[in-house]
Amino acid sequence: MNKYLERLDYGPALESDKPAQDWLMGHGRTFGHFIDGVWCQPNAKTYRSVINPATSEAIAQVGEGDEADVEKAMIAAKKAFPLWSKLHGHERAKYLYAIERALAQNARLFAVLESIDNGKTIRETRDIDIPLAIRHFTYHAGWAEIHEGEYPELVPGGVIGQIIPWNFPLLMLAWKIAPAIAVGNTVVLKPAESTPLTALLFAEMLVKEVKLPRGVVNIVFGGGEVGELIVKHKTPWKIAFTGSTAVGRAIRKSTAGEEKHLTLELGGKSPFIVFADADLDSAVEGVVDAIWFNQGQVCCAGSRLLLEESIAEEFVHRLKVRAEKLRVGPPLDKTMDIGAINSRRQYEKIMRLIDDGVKEGAVVWQPKHWQCPPVGFFVPPLIFTNVAPTCTIAQEEIFGPVLVVMSFRTPKEAVELANNTRYGLAASVWSENIGKANDVAGKIKAGTVWINSTNLFDAAAGFGGFRESGYGREGGREGIFDVLKDRTCDISARVLRRAKIIDATVLKSEDCVDRTRRFLIGGKLVRPDGGMSFPISSPSGVLLGSVGDAGRKDVRNAVEAARGAFESWRGQSAHLRAQILYFFAENLDNERERFADLLRRQTDCEAGDAKSVVKASVERLFYYAALADKFEGTVQPVSPKMTVVGVKEPLGVIGIRPSDLTPLLGIVSAIAPAIVMGNTVVAVTGQYDALSASDLIQVVQTSDVPPGVVNILSAANPDALAKVLAEHEDVDAVWFFGGRSGGAVVEAASASNMKRTWAEEYTPGSGLCLPSAVAKKFLRQATQVKNIWTPFG
Ligand code: NDP
Repeated sequence: MNKYLERLDYGPALESDKPAQDWLMGHGRTFGHFIDGVWCQPNAKTYRSVINPATSEAIAQVGEGDEADVEKAMIAAKKAFPLWSKLHGHERAKYLYAIERALAQNARLFAVLESIDNGKTIRETRDIDIPLAIRHFTYHAGWAEIHEGEYPELVPGGVIGQIIPWNFPLLMLAWKIAPAIAVGNTVVLKPAESTPLTALLFAEMLVKEVKLPRGVVNIVFGGGEVGELIVKHKTPWKIAFTGSTAVGRAIRKSTAGEEKHLTLELGGKSPFIVFADADLDSAVEGVVDAIWFNQGQVCCAGSRLLLEESIAEEFVHRLKVRAEKLRVGPPLDKTMDIGAINSRRQYEKIMRLIDDGVKEGAVVWQPKHWQCPPVGFFVPPLIFTNVAPTCTIAQEEIFGPVLVVMSFRTPKEAVELANNTRYGLAASVWSENIGKANDVAGKIKAGTVWINSTNLFDAAAGFGGFRESGYGREGGREGIFDVLKDRTCDISARVLRRAKIIDATVLKSEDCVDRTRRFLIGGKLVRPDGGMSFPISSPSGVLLGSVGDAGRKDVRNAVEAARGAFESWRGQSAHLRAQILYFFAENLDNERERFADLLRRQTDCEAGDAKSVVKASVERLFYYAALADKFEGTVQPVSPKMTVVGVKEPLGVIGIRPSDLTPLLGIVSAIAPAIVMGNTVVAVTGQYDALSASDLIQVVQTSDVPPGVVNILSAANPDALAKVLAEHEDVDAVWFFGGRSGGAVVEAASASNMKRTWAEEYTPGSGLCLPSAVAKKFLRQATQVKNIWTPFG
């Protein structure tokens, strides 16, 4: 009987592609752009073939966009914005529900079309891609209803430019379009050139079934150059991009200084960690899902398998036995586990990286009994063992069904290996010891961690990366902040205009007295490495003192001190951080007369104003201390069998160039929220704010702030040092509150390691009152959400 069962083969279980082929034929297999609610021929009248990767056949021709097409789409989106954004949220919600219903009614057609366009199996499109896309519209229909009540201080910004990749064409479209239009934006979206078909069907559905107002969604087709045109266009207030880190980096550079909001969902090299006490058979199934789902073409694919040494051999054996059973073949066959690679280009990239792995000495394993169709881009499952953590295949994103295996001995080593990449998108941790699993999840640098599970998604749980996997979130409450912008209501200008700034050129040399102040680095008062200083005078030319002029070396030392202090500081309870901030506030308050006098002399403001600024600075510290344990994480209701905890983690080391328009209050307003959330900071002050900052150093030192948590430098050219901070690989974020040109430099330099930046004219909320919405924005900027998924039951 057993022998008989072994000989039984699968029968063909093909899903018919007839409805999809009929639909393509109905359009003469030729499509233009979707702009202002109608189909438009491409301006240049050029078309590109769409290839079915499983057969290598051309199945359609889709227009190639150019500048005129992008312009037309932007005009349509801009024109649609006023009406769409003013529509009552409930009315917008109805449209999103209508999209959801239309997607559900056409689910089969979408699933088949996605499969023949992308090469992924029908099982995946039918059971994962389409249902998740539907869920995204339902979830965000809810946000359309409630966002104005929840966040009255935030408004839609206008047109959003959106660029999506080929690995989840419809799902990525849903991730981009649903939140954007739910809250009142309009969009211009470009699908990947190799997978435009479901976007076309979606557009048709918007017109025929949903009757979405014209211009709310515009879709322009074409290659990377069309993406570039969208990014560089002056209309969008925001660019949302998903794709490779290389293109994300280019987008960061090209938008620097344009005040465009940016969300980047980039690549990954996610670790899949299995401890000896895990349920090994479940973990094997997890690996199958992590690396062979969608042919491994998943940004969060668990492509690095990290095994506890004692079970490594046994686990790899079980995995190979399982991989022998995987079926690679025609994506429309419902029994297939692995479909086709999306394009020749991607296929060749995978092959090149496999070659690299072999050349670097890794050992390759592939199932003995696998068959692939003779045409199309198919790659069977592949496992690399004997892999050094530094070799190319352990570091580069392969984006294919290729797993690399490494081992570790202790949880600490597992975490080190897991974090030993420039990425930080996702991770999977397997252990039956929940304490250990949670501890490791907390230490891994990634936006999503799945415990005893993998590749789970839900619209209510935001998705996005740490480090070079990008920033911004899609989905969840946190994703809503990325499609809305502040209502303009900054009251700081009132005080700032009254505070005069010092003109150093009127300095009278005979007033000079040597009172050079030092930097605060690692809790110590430190002289400038280069021994340089510069004078600070009052507006009337009276010398008030001189401060150190920091150079690159001082920045490096300060960053090293901040990095050294970070782990211990973030590990403190919010209660303790709050206590330290209270103490800091009390000590500043004790010195209020001295600070007010200094401020008055520095700025020539009236005594009453100087006192108000000091009072506001003290209050600011108290306020953020109060918020320390009240900026909570979330528990996402994604499933009755799963808890998803959204933890707000500090970013790490934040470089700050505070606004110098309101000395003292500018630096306090930036430092307090950063450190209260567990970050450490390096602040660089200039000629207008260095003096009060250097007096603040003494207060920091007497307030139990641990050494290295706050580091303060001064420089004659602080903007140049802000650029050094932005280029520094060990700085995680830079806040630049010193004007547009400096902000542009910082944003461009930040592309080196894709650190988060926040650039404004001056420190937001550095007026006498701090609106609570501004304070929350600071706390959001000071944190990143990590969603930890834990199954139970
Ligand atoms: P890209 O980053 O090149 O493409 C993603 C999207 O950006 C596509 O729509 C692409 O257009 C467009 N694009 C390309 N160049 C530019 C540009 N200069 N400005 C604006 N938009 C641009 O990814 P690829 O498709 O080439 O894949 C390469 C690698 O990227 C993969 O091997 C994988 O490692 C990674 N990747 C990661 C993804 C993720 O989800 N994190 C998704 C896809 C890829 P077009 O496709 O038409 O060229």
